[in-house]
Amino acid sequence: MFKTVGVVGAGQMGHGIALVSALKGVEVKLLDVSQEAIDAGMEKVRQGLERQEARGVIAQADADAAYKRIETSTDYAVFKDCDMVIEAASENEEVKRDIFKKLTPHLGAQAMLASNTSSISITRLAASTDRPAQFCGCHFMNPVPAMQLVELIRGLATAEETFAAFQEYAEALGKTVAVSEDFPGFIVNRILLPMINEAIYALYEGVGTVTAIDTAMKLGTKHPLGPLELADFIGLDTCLAILSVLHGDLADTKYRPCPLLVKYVEAGWLGVKTGRGFYDYSQDTPRPTR
Ligand code: NAD
Repeated sequence: MFKTVGVVGAGQMGHGIALVSALKGVEVKLLDVSQEAIDAGMEKVRQGLERQEARGVIAQADADAAYKRIETSTDYAVFKDCDMVIEAASENEEVKRDIFKKLTPHLGAQAMLASNTSSISITRLAASTDRPAQFCGCHFMNPVPAMQLVELIRGLATAEETFAAFQEYAEALGKTVAVSEDFPGFIVNRILLPMINEAIYALYEGVGTVTAIDTAMKLGTKHPLGPLELADFIGLDTCLAILSVLHGDLADTKYRPCPLLVKYVEAGWLGVKTGRGFYDYSQDTPRPTR
C-alpha cells in the first residue's frame, strides 16, 4: 500500500483524493499552481472533513489528524519521497504532459504515476513520461468521498505490479474498482457524456427548458440528478474537454459538442464552481438560467 502519495491539482477532484487518502492514514503532498488554489482546495478539505464529523462518520481527532497529514506546496520538490503521484489537474493534455515533465525529475526510481483524467489516452500520457510501465489510469468519481467507484485503466505498457498496486490503493480507500480498457472516455464518460451532450442539444433545439429536461430525466428514468444539473456539477469546461477528446479520438460526429455548451464555456459559465451554468447558484436554491 502506498504510504506517501502526491496529488497534483487541488480542485474538485484533487482535494477529494487528498482527503480520502489522508483519512486512511496516507501522508499526502498536495500541489497546485498558486497559493490561492491551494488555499481554496484546503478549505474544501476542511469543509469535507467537518461534514463527515457532523454526520458522525469520523471523530474530530480523525478529522484533525487527516488535515495535518496533508502538506501543500507549489514546488514539485515536495514529491521527492512519494511512492505514487496522481495527477488531477485540468482536463487538458498539454497541461498534463507539462506536469509530468516537471514532476518526474523529482521522483525516486520506484515511484508510480497515475492520472485521474476523465478521457485522455493513458497510453499516450504514460508514453510522455520516463516510466510508462509504472503508470496507470486511476479515475475517481466526483465527489470523491461519497462516490464508490474508481475506474482503473491499464495503458499499453502498464506493468501488472503497477496495476495491482493501484487496485490495492483504491480498495484500501474503501472503493470498488471497475476495469476499463484504454479507450477515450473509458466506461463512465463514454456513456455519460453523450447523454449530457444530448440533453444540451435538447435545450439548444427548444425541446424543453432546463427544468423540464432535468425533471423528465429524474422522474422518468430515476436519475438522482438531471443531466444539466450533473453537467454543472462536473464543470462545463470539463464536459467540453471530455466531449472534445471523444469527438477527436473516436472521429465520430455523434460526439460533436453542442454549440450551446461551447458558448457557456466561452462565457466562463462553468457551472457550480463559477456560480453559474445551466443554473444560477447565487441564491440558496439554484435557478435555471434558460
Ligand atoms: P478543477 O477545475 O476543479 O481543478 C483543476 C485544478 O488543477 C485547479 O485547482 C487548477 O489550479 C489546477 N491546475 C491547472 N493547471 C495546473 C498545473 N499546470 N499544475 C498544477 N495544477 C494545475 O477540475 P477537476 O474537476 O478537479 O478535474 C481535475 C481532473 O479530474 C480532470 O482531468 C478531470 O477530467 C478529472 N475528473 C473530473 C471529474 C468531475 O466531475 N469534475 C470527475 C472525475 C475526473
